[in-house]
Amino acid sequence: MHSEITVSTRRKQEVVDITRQVAEAVSRSEVGEGMCTVFVAHATAAVVINESADPNLCDDLLDALGRLVPEGVWRHDRIDDNGAAHIKAAILGPSETIPVRDGRLLLGAWQAIMLVDLDGPRRRRVVVTVR
Ligand code: ZN
Repeated sequence: MHSEITVSTRRKQEVVDITRQVAEAVSRSEVGEGMCTVFVAHATAAVVINESADPNLCDDLLDALGRLVPEGVWRHDRIDDNGAAHIKAAILGPSETIPVRDGRLLLGAWQAIMLVDLDGPRRRRVVVTVR
């Protein structure tokens, strides 16, 4: 079963915890045992699994990516000035897959599913597939 989550971001770069919405999609799917794939359908956003309890860690992730990938030096910047956002999104990747057991996501205690917008603010479409 596919369902879709829409996330409206407010900043240029933002990490948004979408664990609750994904868990609701898994619950609605009525799949007991299986896999859940969370996929963002954009070239300048990513999906990661990590800790969201400490908001500093989300900022640290964005800072680390900023140190790895400078702004304004890419060929693609001549087209729409967001080459760095594309490269950061490619490093993180557009999807994560989580096992499902007893109709619940098998996440670790400190794991959360997060959308990372690298060229916001925008409306981002996240596709959740459970089977
Ligand atoms: Zn672009």
